[in-house]
Amino acid sequence: MTAETREQFIQCPYCGSHYHAVVDLSGGDQVYIEDCEVCCRPIEFQLHLDAEGHFAELVLRRDDD
Ligand SMILES: [Zn+2]
Repeated sequence: MTAETREQFIQCPYCGSHYHAVVDLSGGDQVYIEDCEVCCRPIEFQLHLDAEGHFAELVLRRDDD
């Protein structure tokens, strides 16, 4: 694990499972899809960094909203 990744405790918006997901901070603000580790449904990750490039917020959405 490098300084440009972070382990974030998340809750799947589909099945409600909690687990640690690794987020990549090197690409700046981004939106991407990653399958839930438990139910394998596609979760939309909305990653926000602050002005210094540090982790600010991670928003999870269902892909079928
Ligand atoms: Zn799930």
